[in-house]
This record gives sequence, C-alpha cells and structure tokens, in this order.
Amino acid sequence: MRVLYYLETSEGRLTGGSLELLGSSGLFDKKSCFVVFDPELEKKPEYEIARLISDKAKDFDLILTPGSNHGKAVASLISGMLSLPGLNNVTKLSIEDDGLEITRPIYAAKILEKMKVETKRAAISIRIGSFDRMDALSKESSVADIEKYFQRIPLSKNNNNELVKVVDTVMTVTESVNIEEAPVIVAGGRGMASAENFNMLYDLADALGGVVGASLPVVDSGWIDKNHQIGQSGRTVRPSLYIAVGISGAPQHQVGMAESGYIVAINMNPKAPIFDIANLGLVGDFRKLLPRFTEEVIKRK
Ligand SMILES: Cc1cc2nc3c(=O)[nH]c(=O)nc-3n(C[C@H](O)[C@H](O)[C@H](O)COP(=O)(O)OP(=O)(O)OC[C@H]3O[C@@H](n4cnc5c(N)ncnc54)[C@H](O)[C@@H]3O)c2cc1C
Repeated sequence: MRVLYYLETSEGRLTGGSLELLGSSGLFDKKSCFVVFDPELEKKPEYEIARLISDKAKDFDLILTPGSNHGKAVASLISGMLSLPGLNNVTKLSIEDDGLEITRPIYAAKILEKMKVETKRAAISIRIGSFDRMDALSKESSVADIEKYFQRIPLSKNNNNELVKVVDTVMTVTESVNIEEAPVIVAGGRGMASAENFNMLYDLADALGGVVGASLPVVDSGWIDKNHQIGQSGRTVRPSLYIAVGISGAPQHQVGMAESGYIVAINMNPKAPIFDIANLGLVGDFRKLLPRFTEEVIKRK
C-alpha cells in the first residue's frame, strides 16, 4: 500500500493539522509513505492543488489530507477527479484484506459511523484531533527535516491549465490566540454569566500557562472573540488539560474537546453531561471555586 500525504502550510510553515496527519503514518510502513510539501502551493486554489496531486495519484492507493476546510476540499476534489471514494472527517482508519475500514462522526458527532470501503484506493481527510502530532517534526520543519522521514513527491510547475488564480490572501486581523496549540485550556460557558466574570478564567489560565476557550453562546453574546470557540462550529482542540467552567457539555461542544488529555469540569448542576466525560468533576459555583483553584495553582508553582 502506497500512501501520499498532502501537507498543508500556512505562511510557509506546516500546520498543526499536517503534523497530526503525519501522526497517522504509524499505521503504515514508513517506506510506503510519501509527502507533497511545497509552501508555493499556498498561492494556488484548491482545485489546482487537487489537479496537480491527481497527476501523481495513480501511483498511490491512499491520498490523505488534513481535516481543515482546505484539506477537506482538496480530498473531495481529488476523489472527484480520479473517481475514487472520497471520505471526509475520518477519525479512524484500518487496512483490511478486502478494503478499508473507517470511522467518522456524523450528526454533530452524536453517532460514530463505521464504514467498509471495498477498495484500498481512496482520498480521505483526517479529522483534526484524531491523531497525536508526529513528535519528530514541528511547524518549523524544513524540507530537509521532512525528507529524513518521508520521500517528497515534487509537483509539476506547469501553470498553463490554471482555471482560477489566487490574487491576494488577506489574513483576518483579530485578537491572536493559538488555541489549537495550547497545552492547557480554561474554557467558560454561559454559566459564567458575564464577560467580566471571564477575568477569573484568564487568571487561572495565566497561572497554568494556558489560554481561554469558550462555548458558542459565550461567543454569540460577544463576551469573547469567535477564535476562542470550541466545538462543532468552532475549533477542535486536544490539550493535555481542559478545564470546563459553567459549560453543560452539549454534544456540539464535546465534539471539539472530548479527546483532551485530562478534563476537569466545574458546574453547579451535578447532572450536567460534561461530568460524563470529565476525569475530575467539581460541583459548585465557579465564583467560589475558581479563585481558590487559581490561588492553589499559584501557591504550588
Ligand atoms: C449546528 C450547531 C453547532 C453548534 N456548535 C457549537 C460549538 O461549536 N460550540 C459549542 O459550545 N456549542 C455549539 N452549539 C451549541 C450547543 O448545542 C449548546 O447550546 C452550547 O454548547 C451550550 O453552551 P453552554 O454549555 O455554555 O451553555 P448551557 O448549556 O446553558 O450551560 C451552562 C452551564 O453552566 C452551569 N452553571 C450555571 N451557573 C453556574 C455557576 N454559577 N457555576 C458553575 N456552573 C454554572 C449550568 O449548570 C449549565 O450546565 C452548536 C449547536 C448547533 C445546533
């Protein structure tokens, strides 16, 4: 089985999704894993990237992309161009004698769908948060670093067939928060009651060297920027420690954080669903619990 990884970059650096994608290379014989890594592709639209990869894809069985919107688009386009099964959001993948077995969440992650693909050829995007990042590489890894582990497949530079051109890329200027990279996230929900109360979350996050996350209603209320939202329509995160405060734990929230290493939940309602997935649950009012929690963390530093 030969596997081709499409590595997405941002401003020339590997994305977190690409590093996670490479984490899945443990499923295969490393010698059979190849990569497309070319920061120049950032200037090209997805259609063109898919076309260039499709030119090489006949030599490969699996084409795997990161589960970002961009990666999903590339996988879907390749599947269409090559008439291959195309599967997005895959969280588990196994190679069977008679094909592939894949798992992916559907219906806002309320159901995990297990599918049998009756061929070993497919274009698949791997959902963000499904695999640990490949330790040996980082966002700063160069072509030479990557080539220590995988053979790189160069793409044709012939642009004559370009149907669409990227004229400009404008980065949104918003408050910067690297929530997908943070080892610790202290997230607040509607139960925090006001934007001012979020200061308690910032205090705890600072003490732990983490960042602040939020549920959807908090973002909708304008208490915090959308960049902080975790869940189905926000970010998917996998920190070592996730502290959920005043968050009920709706499926649409859980889908973005359930794979965190250790989950602490603070909630007044002992029946809140967040306690079903928490490693440690504290039942009570955040107004009392959070200042003591933060004080204790500072004391022990
Ligand atoms: C298509 C779709 C996409 C969605 N995407 C997302 C998403 O990306 N992210 C997301 O989060 N949601 C998302 N949602 C919304 C989701 O269904 C829930 O409505 C939302 O997660 C609830 O947010 P919450 O837990 O902050 O609020 P609530 O469900 O209202 O929970 C508040 C919690 O705070 C507790 N509480 C209250 N006061 C205190 C106190 N003083 N101390 C401690 N605890 C207290 C309560 O007991 C309660 O459990 C989506 C929904 C849909 C339909």
